[in-house]
Amino acid sequence: MLWHRLMGLMPGELKQSELGWLFSPHRHLSLLARRRAKLIVNRVRLFAFLFAVLTPLWSIIDFIVFPFPLWGQLALMRFAASAAFASLLVYYRSNGDLFNAYRAMALLFAIPTVFYVASHTLLTHYQLTGMSAAIGAGYAFLPFVLLGGLAVFPLAIAESFVVASPILVCHAVSGYLRWAAMDWPAFTGAFWLLVLITGVAALAGICQLAFMIALVRQAIRDPLTNAFSRSSGMEILDLHFTMAERGNAPFALAFLDLDHFKRINDGYGHEAGDRALVTMTERVSQHMRHGDVLARWGGEEFLLIMPGTGLEQARTAIERLRSSGFGERPEGGPVTASIGIAERRADHVGDWKRLVELADQRMYAAKQGGRDRVVSGEPAAVPAPCHQAMPAIAAAAPV
Ligand code: GH3
Ligand code: MG
Ligand code: MG
Repeated sequence: MLWHRLMGLMPGELKQSELGWLFSPHRHLSLLARRRAKLIVNRVRLFAFLFAVLTPLWSIIDFIVFPFPLWGQLALMRFAASAAFASLLVYYRSNGDLFNAYRAMALLFAIPTVFYVASHTLLTHYQLTGMSAAIGAGYAFLPFVLLGGLAVFPLAIAESFVVASPILVCHAVSGYLRWAAMDWPAFTGAFWLLVLITGVAALAGICQLAFMIALVRQAIRDPLTNAFSRSSGMEILDLHFTMAERGNAPFALAFLDLDHFKRINDGYGHEAGDRALVTMTERVSQHMRHGDVLARWGGEEFLLIMPGTGLEQARTAIERLRSSGFGERPEGGPVTASIGIAERRADHVGDWKRLVELADQRMYAAKQGGRDRVVSGEPAAVPAPCHQAMPAIAAAAPV
């Protein structure tokens, strides 16, 4: 009961299976990881823009309150930091990879950290009093700004921890080194404040992540069948095809088109058609391999994406799906599909669009051949229909 109460406090927009994603990015869907990587780099660039403008502007205050050469030296540091922020803004682009996003964050945090160490070292050489002492003390606030800045990123708890730890450790070590001469209650108070700010920023990051998970889920799924939408299917294809090419791994696709689907709509209404589509996707999702992806490509057309699957394995998988069935037609008899299979290596295909085209052509060949059958690259792949719902017209000619 306690566990359920606790779970009730977690962000309500998430499903139970997604809650673990808030702790670590390890099991995030590739589409979520991609979108998050892009968002993180965009936020880094936004921050870089703000800092590139604001950092040199503060030189005016330095000029008013600090004696010469101090304000001049600080101004030089500020312009150097501003140039570094500006180059991050101009040259850094997201490639959708999470490590690329982490690197952007590391660079963003490294620039003010170097500036902090340099300016702090410089200020310790000056005995400042009054207003200049107050402004000088402000330079010590940079770690607070950095950790507070974490709040703008949609990070999992583990990620916030990894980013915040070095800053907290540096702060603790610098305190330890100055232990003898230091006002330790003030230091402990400041350190505690840093920890609190980190906690609040990490919580803000988790809330952003939860919101993002829910939004991405809604955006990438087809609302009727809960299969992936066509646009996210394209993204997945692009991602997996590139990975398969890189590792010269097999990669298969099956193009499924339900047979005589219009008759269900015409005879029993659109709702019966919708129910048939939902049942079909549920059946396929239950029986497809873990790691395969089902996308709704059009009305009653689906693409089964099978990463790491060779031609033979794909045929076996599709036969398994066909024998477990796609559901029942309202007029009786099984729902059947015409299916075209294509595989990257067997078909010597260099891009995913061509692979989809091939699978589509073979699906069409399966239709021509009498429906309720599979066509793949070789003649052996044209089995006799396993259901007798629709009469087979002729054996399909493989493309
Ligand atoms: P074939 O065996 O040649 O594929 O015939 P078919 O009737 O399945 O193919 P056709 O392309 O003529 O018709 C597809 C139908 O699918 C037409 C459209 O009304 C229906 N459809 C598309 N999207 C949906 C949907 O979301 N819900 C329902 N109920 N029907 C849909
Ligand atoms: Mg169709
Ligand atoms: Mg059809």
